[in-house]
Order: sequence, then structure tokens, then C-alpha cells
Amino acid sequence: MPSPVICWFRRDLRLADHPALAAAASEGEVVPLFVDDPAFARAGPARQAFLAASLRSLDASMGGTLVVRRGDPATLVPALAAEVGARLVTATGDDGPYGRRRDEAVAAALADAGRRLVLVGTNYAVAPGTLVPGSLKAGERRGFAVFTPFRRAWEAHGWDQPVPVPDVTWRGGVPGDRLPAAPEVAATLPAAGEAAAHARLETFLHAGPDGVDGYVDRRNLPAVDGTSRLSPYLRFGVLHPRQALDALGDDRGAATFRSELAWREFYADVLHHRPTSAWANLQRRMDAMAVDTDAAARARFERWTTGTTGYPIVDAGMRQLLGEGWVHNRVRMIVASFLVKDLHLPWQWGAAHYLRHLVDGDLASNSHGWQWTAGTGTDAAPYFRIFNPVSQAERFDPTGAYVRRWVPELADVPDRHVHAPWTARQGPPLGYPAPVVDHAAEREDSLARYAATAPS
Ligand code: FAD
Repeated sequence: MPSPVICWFRRDLRLADHPALAAAASEGEVVPLFVDDPAFARAGPARQAFLAASLRSLDASMGGTLVVRRGDPATLVPALAAEVGARLVTATGDDGPYGRRRDEAVAAALADAGRRLVLVGTNYAVAPGTLVPGSLKAGERRGFAVFTPFRRAWEAHGWDQPVPVPDVTWRGGVPGDRLPAAPEVAATLPAAGEAAAHARLETFLHAGPDGVDGYVDRRNLPAVDGTSRLSPYLRFGVLHPRQALDALGDDRGAATFRSELAWREFYADVLHHRPTSAWANLQRRMDAMAVDTDAAARARFERWTTGTTGYPIVDAGMRQLLGEGWVHNRVRMIVASFLVKDLHLPWQWGAAHYLRHLVDGDLASNSHGWQWTAGTGTDAAPYFRIFNPVSQAERFDPTGAYVRRWVPELADVPDRHVHAPWTARQGPPLGYPAPVVDHAAEREDSLARYAATAPS
């Protein structure tokens, strides 16, 4: 029997537009592999449940041939290669710090046995690390530090056309572990699988003013379904960004949406060049900023995680996180700003909580989204951007529909008090807390802490 090729699936759980699968298929029979790595335990139950459902769907699309092995990839991938007599393993490049280390270990272990790991393509339209700023001096290796020039270079570089599902001969009958079981979760998760991802993309593209055509006007309104909600599919590569980009037109909505996809690519590029930025301030001078970590800080953190801060938009966002494993982008910024600038907690606490509970939880987008809000990241002069949780809510949730959906205690509070229920004559409704802090006072405190940090 000719030797098969292993295609190792990781953050690319699809068949269409999959260059690593196409490369494997062009060599012969394909053994599709997923390694259930103990490192995935870092993801919370919602992301694990979505992953499990995505794998079930992928397995079904391969006629039930997906081989699952549980344990350390550096041991398991070479072991399977030896078992089936594969000389070649293909996979999509994974640029995160863990992914790079893992792939180096697997490649070395395969090489010891005269086999090869070949990485084909990435999970991005333009591979992280590809684009270089024009201002770079000879010998310098660094990426873009600012988004807009990155986006321009990214658009100018362009991306390949998506490729169709290759003609694959799957090798069946290879023994493996059971597909990972989906943990019981309270959260309502999106439908899993490639067909569901494409259905969501199609709906977004063709819903007229309710979709991409109205994206500019509606993308900041958390009460409406005004964004694509493709992030979980992009996170697991059920959809490749190329597939979304290829389907976009050129009008304003499409251009803004393309720019949002560019943020995802930008943050992956930043992480490529600065892997420590996953958990350390990009602007190291911000290390001097005073943050609170004592018992009182822990108690404030618990009010934040449980959605009981007394600020309705913050509480709605934190409850949406637990209820859907997803939070509207505007609200992500508001709750993140609140944690850092009203509660004076380390952004890393919030980022870790988010990363655990988000179905789309992604190290690059999450950590840099937090750093953007905390004023420690790629933005030029951001610390003064302190979101007011009441005026933000009044502007972006004018009828209170979003906060009432997630905070039912506020159902009967009149519109004019719904974002600041303590201002009602009778105070917050029964069962809903008074504000954990006073925003105006904490804003001043934040600015004072910043002034003590900044070079005079
Ligand atoms: P759409 O508005 O439809 O945008 C389309 C796609 O563009 C998204 O799916 C996403 O892939 C990308 N995108 C949009 N905005 C951003 C952005 N600001 N940064 C990076 N990519 C973006 N996104 C994640 O995918 N995973 C995360 O873990 C994550 N954590 C975040 C944490 C904070 C504090 C903040 C402020 C933002 C975070 N984001 C994260 C970015 C953004 O909130 C989500 O990508 C977006 O809300 C997903 O919803 P959507 O697919 O409907 O977005």
C-alpha cells in the first residue's frame, strides 16, 4: 500500500479553502488527525463545547474517518506516523507562542524518525510576520506598531483566492480515541460546522441594511444583531478570513468590515513579533502604573465577574459573556475599561477571565484588545480614553433593550433611569445592587495614577 499523508487539524476545522489538506490530498491517501491536547483544558467549558461540536461536524464531513488521539502532540503525531507509515505530516501554520513551540517539538520528533512536518498556509489572510514597515532600517526585524499603516500595507499586499474542497481519499479504519465530549454548558452556543459558518456569512452579506450594508450604522448597537458573529468560526478556522474577504464588495459597509478583519490580522502580527505581549504590557513604561491586587481588589473583581457592579451596561456584558460565550465589541470595550479604570485591577485579570469564557477566545485578539483598552498597547495616547459606563450606554443602547435583556431586575425601571438606576427616586430596584464605585471619583483616581506614572 502506498504511504498515506497525515493532515493534522488544529485551528482549521474545515475542508474548503484548506491548503494543508489540499497539499496532503495531492500526495495520496489522507489520515485526518486531531490531537486532543491537555493544553486545551485552559479553555472554559463553552469553548470546549463549541470545539467538540465543530469536531463532530468535521468528522461527519470526512465520513467518520477523523482520528482523535489524546495527549502530547510531540509523542502522538510521530507515533501515528510510524503506525500508518506516513513520511509526511501537513498542517496549517499556527503562529501563537504555544503553537510555535509545539510545532517545533513535533517537527523535531518527526525528523528523528526521518519524517517531516510541513506547515502550509496560516489562519490569516496575510501570514503574521509578512508585512514590514517601510521605515525599517537594514537588519531590523520588527512589525507595524500602529494599526492604520498596517491595514494599508495589508490591503496592498492582498491575499489568495479561496481554493475549493480538494478531492480527498480518506484512509479509514485507523484506531483512535473517542471525539472529545462536549461539557454541559448553560451558555447558548452558535451552531457548529462549516455549513453553519457559511450560512452565517451568507446571511450577513445578503441581509441588506440588517447585514453588511448597515454595518457602519449598526455595528455599535449591542441590542441589535448588527455584526457578523463570525468570530467563533474564525477562531477555530471553520471559516478562513480569505473566504469572508473574497465575498465582500467595495461599499462602505464592506470596507469597514474588511477593516475589522484587519484588526484580527494586526494583533496576530503584533503577537508574532512580540510574543511576550500576550500577558505583559506592550508599553513597558506602563509597568509603573499602580494597580490594586489586595483582598478589596479581589472583592471588586468578583462583583465584575458576576455582573453585579450596579452599572447596568457592565453587568449586562458580563452576563452575556456567561450566557452566550460572546460579548458585543462595544460592550467588551466598556467592561474592560471599567475593570481597569474604575476598579483599578490588572488588565490581565480581565483578559484571563475573558479568555476562559469566550467561545471566540483568541490570545492575540483578546490580549491586545485588553491592552488597547488599558492604554498599555499599540495605541498612541490612550490612557485618557476612560469610558463613562452611563453615557456609553445611553448612546449605544438608547432604549435600554440590551441591558434589560441581560439584567431582568431592570425590566420595570423607566428608560431615563435604566442606565443609572441609583438616580431613580426609589433607588435601584429590589435585588439589583448599588454601584460598586463612583465613576467620577475613580476616573480622577485613574488619571492621578497615570500622572504619577507618566514622564513629566
Ligand atoms: P464583527 O464586527 O462582525 O467583525 C468581523 C470580524 O473581525 C470578527 O469576527 C473578528 O475576527 C474581527 N474583529 C472585529 N473587531 C476586532 C477587534 N477589535 N480585534 C480583533 N479582531 C476583530 N475577538 C476575538 O475574536 N477573540 C477574542 O478573544 C477577543 N477579545 C477581545 C477582548 C476585548 C477587551 C476587546 C475590546 C475585543 C476583543 N475581540 C476579540 C475583538 C471583537 O470584540 C470581536 O472580534 C467581535 O466582537 C466578534 O464579533 P463579530 O464576529 O460579530 O465581529
